[in-house]
Amino acid sequence: MQKFISEQNLHTLLDKLIAEGTRVVAPRMNAGTPLYEPLKSASEMVADQLPRRSGKEAFFPLCEDIMTYEKEGQKVTLKDIDPARFPETVLVGVRPCDAAAIPVLDAVFSWDYKDEFFLERRKKTTIVGLACTSADDACFCTAVGLSPSETRGSDLFLTPLEDGGYACESYSEKGEALIKGHLELFAEPGNSRAVSLAQPQTEKFDLKKVKAWLDEHFEDSSWDSIATRCVGCGACAFVCPVCHCFDIVDEGTEKSGKRRKNWDACGFWKFTHHASGHNPRDQQPKRYRNRIMHKFKYYEDKFGQTLCTGCGRCIRLCPVGIDIAQIVEEISKK
Ligand code: SF4
Ligand code: SF4
Repeated sequence: MQKFISEQNLHTLLDKLIAEGTRVVAPRMNAGTPLYEPLKSASEMVADQLPRRSGKEAFFPLCEDIMTYEKEGQKVTLKDIDPARFPETVLVGVRPCDAAAIPVLDAVFSWDYKDEFFLERRKKTTIVGLACTSADDACFCTAVGLSPSETRGSDLFLTPLEDGGYACESYSEKGEALIKGHLELFAEPGNSRAVSLAQPQTEKFDLKKVKAWLDEHFEDSSWDSIATRCVGCGACAFVCPVCHCFDIVDEGTEKSGKRRKNWDACGFWKFTHHASGHNPRDQQPKRYRNRIMHKFKYYEDKFGQTLCTGCGRCIRLCPVGIDIAQIVEEISKK
């Protein structure tokens, strides 16, 4: 279904959803940093900046309680957190590199173990993607087969128009339902052209070649030169729309506490530290090798997908200037 929505009507739609009790999550400024966060009003949305972290946390929060316990004498009471209480959500203004990441995550969260926390939020969320109008030197979505107008992962997709407002196209029943439920705010598509979209300056990687090299070079001296300087801060994993490792920890006292699911990162030394004291990834290059292997080989082997959407966040934020696009490009030319 194709429609047009004006900027003002988009705001009216979001305000209406908020008033009805729907959680509306969109890029908004938080202490000077754009982040995907719940809006109190549509006027808080900032459509022209890539949020610092990705949209995955609408489904997979940085930290969440999954169970609580209380102890009284010998009696221990466990209480599950019920995912059914998660609210209906509209995630709006999602960059194509973030929206495309969500179906990639579906594969792992509904694989051998069905993660109800992720899946229930996923079921209750409508994703409204937004075409990208600006790219910086770190963006490389086009190199991994996506684009600034990629609609993968979006239920509804907005493209800004030269005369104002957005061309709006639905790609799922959820997207269609959002339009049909507020039909008075949409108009038939007009003749206005799309504004010029972002043009990341990257050529498409030969991902088959990259994987073929990775298949044969688990042991290779290049890993040292690539990642000896990595400080293992984990920032690259925390800002990544498709990194999904987490740890489960119990936090509390003798009397009560919580079981929590926290983001984790394969760049951390403790990530593979065994109780015996042995660590199979005892040096930073081995940990960074895992990052590249997971993204461009293991996930491809397991789910037939690349675990990178080219958002460039890890390049912008790495404190030691490690550039994953440059590394993958070099591998593709070996
Ligand atoms: S690996 Fe880096 S560029 Fe690729 S999706 Fe993750 S943060 Fe973005
Ligand atoms: S952000 Fe850079 S330094 Fe930090 S773990 Fe990632 S690659 Fe290493």
